[in-house]
Amino acid sequence: MSEVGPKEHQGKEESVSRPKCPRCGGVISYIEHQKKGGKYYYYAVHYLGYTKTSNGKVKKNVRKCYLGPKAYNYVSRTHSDLGIVFEGAVEERRVIHYLDAFIMSLTKIELDRPTLIEIINKLKYLTQRLEEIVKEYE
Ligand SMILES: [Zn+2]
Repeated sequence: MSEVGPKEHQGKEESVSRPKCPRCGGVISYIEHQKKGGKYYYYAVHYLGYTKTSNGKVKKNVRKCYLGPKAYNYVSRTHSDLGIVFEGAVEERRVIHYLDAFIMSLTKIELDRPTLIEIINKLKYLTQRLEEIVKEYE
């Protein structure tokens, strides 16, 4: 994974505080948005360096990760220009983290039979519901 940013942003302190891409985990160089049908779609742009073309021009190499239709900025106390959170993608990852935490908790605490049955039924319903939603995407 490449984590090359613009020169002025390289350095120990920056690499710690720079926002990481919720999609690939790479350092975000800057944000780009595209307006489609009155909605904004956000991309994390990863700067990968320059290449010189045969005619002597400099071409910027970037890789883009789609973040989602929603985004907002929050002001970081120390790095107001760098502290950016992307709601769409971050929210999605958060759901996965909650789920992981839930799965871990099930193996750590002792649950009685009725509670276990209730959890199983809820998970069955959830699985069924999620499969229906996934089918709608196909
Ligand atoms: Zn990325």
